[in-house]
Order: sequence, then structure tokens, then C-alpha cells
Amino acid sequence: MPIDQQHWFTEICDDAGSAFSLRIKAKLHEEQTPYQKIEIYETETFGMLMAIDGFVMLSTRDNFLYHEMLSHPVLFTHPAPRRVLIIGGGDCGTLREVLRHSDIEQVQQVDIDEQVTRLSEQYFPELCEANGDARAELHFADGIKWVREAEANSYDVIIVDSTDPVGPGEVLFTHEFYQHCRRVLGDDGLLVQQSESPMYHLDLLTRIHQIMRAAGFARTQTLTFPQPVYPSGWWSATLAGNTDLTAFRQRDVETRPFPTLYYNHRIHQTSLALPGFVEQHLQENL
Ligand code: SAM
Repeated sequence: MPIDQQHWFTEICDDAGSAFSLRIKAKLHEEQTPYQKIEIYETETFGMLMAIDGFVMLSTRDNFLYHEMLSHPVLFTHPAPRRVLIIGGGDCGTLREVLRHSDIEQVQQVDIDEQVTRLSEQYFPELCEANGDARAELHFADGIKWVREAEANSYDVIIVDSTDPVGPGEVLFTHEFYQHCRRVLGDDGLLVQQSESPMYHLDLLTRIHQIMRAAGFARTQTLTFPQPVYPSGWWSATLAGNTDLTAFRQRDVETRPFPTLYYNHRIHQTSLALPGFVEQHLQENL
């Protein structure tokens, strides 16, 4: 029985032979920007939904999982993050989490498509509540151009909150991009990038490790977390740096003065424990 497109939004993951659907109340917006097609839906049970080029970006109900896990582990792994660069992240959920860290002095967010932010302000205002923070700067440019032109040693942490490695996001998974990230980070600087599904995209996840290491990062470490609206419901982020990526400021996590719905020091620790098949594949290929 074909899925009724009037009442269901479906993302088909062709190479996995699977699909994910949410029952919708209404389609609220659709536009083709110079970079991508953006759709906004109101769903029955997941609140608002944003899709870019047919791929789910986020929903009101479960985006906290992704935004907390893309931000807090890397920031609590760095000894003293002050200057943060977010590449992508146009919905501003990652920016909001980064700004919860009071010691951070400056966050520059660089998304290629200003419309993502404008639509997020309208349909996900809760994610944009920190956009007026004096420490935040929103820029709209290609992330690879930004890092190509950035000064050496100008950031402590780079968070790559990009779309998948297709279309405009493809350049953010390349040797050249990681080389520039390595150059613009200080010696103890850290990079973290959303690195797709350990279940569906293990070869791509491994390639990300290989390319990050070839670009000059001595160590790479994947962490995993649940993300119901993404293919397989199981997602990952990969850290890169020259320091021990499994050590973090646990005391600071335990005494953090801000709320999180998913992240805590136990989740931080367990998210670094990789399943056997992932660990084996990485060991065999790194
Ligand atoms: N949470 C989502 C996910 O994991 O798929 C990603 C969130 S965010 C909506 C992804 C952002 O990456 C989009 O706003 C898109 O405009 C941005 N993006 C894609 N390619 C880019 C590039 N080359 N430079 C900067 N931003 C880019």
C-alpha cells in the first residue's frame, strides 16, 4: 500500500532499503534556495519538522539529542574552550547549546544558506533564543571558504553541523577542509563532525576517520547516540585532535550550571564505547 503523501512525510534511505515516516498535519512551507530545497511540516507527534533536499534535518521533539551530543562532549573534552566555530548549524540548535558554556567568549556560526536560519527563527524559535547573545556571530558563507581564509590558531573548537556529504555539504568531508580545520585550530584544538549512522554508513564513518588523520589530526574518536528521525535511528559524531579524546572534564560536567535533557557524564562516557563491529571495522581500516 503506497504511503499516503498527503498525511505522511517519508524519507527514503535508498542504499539501506529503508524509510522513515511521520504522520503530518500540514505542509507549512517549501522553497528552493540557491543551495537546497527546504521544507517545513507540522507533524502529529514530533512537532515541527525541517527537511533539506528531502532529508530530515530536525524535529521539535528529538533535536535535543543531536544538538546536545554535537556540542557538550567536545566542549567538555577541551581543557578551556573560548573561541568556537560552527560550520553549518543553520537551525541554531547547536549554537544555543554552545552558548550555555559561560566561559566561551566567541561563537562564529557559518552556514551557507541564510534561509535555514530565517525559517528556524519562524518555526523553531526555541532553538534561536540565544541568537542575540553578544558572543554569537552569524555568518552566511561556504564553510570551506571560511576555513580556507581563517587565520591559523584562531579557534579552540570547530563543530561541523552539516548536512550529509552530498550537495553543498560534500566539501565539508574532504581532505582540504580538514587540513584547514587543523591549521586554524590551536595545538590542543578539537574538531567534531556529525558522522552519519554507524549502522548504515560504516564505510563512510571509517573514511571520515581516515581523511581526518591524513589531514593532520593524530587522533579520532567516534561517539554514538540515538536520533529517531535519522536513518536507522542511531547516529554518530566524530572527534578529531592531537590529545586524548576519551578524557574529559567530568567534574565540570557534574557541576555544570545548565540543564540538559540527554547529556550527562555517564552518557559522555558510554557514548565513547563503540559496538564490536564498529570497533573492529575501524581497527581493520585505520
Ligand atoms: N542536524 C542536521 C543533520 O545532521 O543533518 C544538520 C543541521 S543543519 C540544518 C545543516 C546545515 O548545513 C544546513 O543549514 C546547510 O545549509 C548547511 N550546509 C551545507 N553545506 C554547507 C557548506 N558547504 N557550508 C556551510 N554550511 C553548509
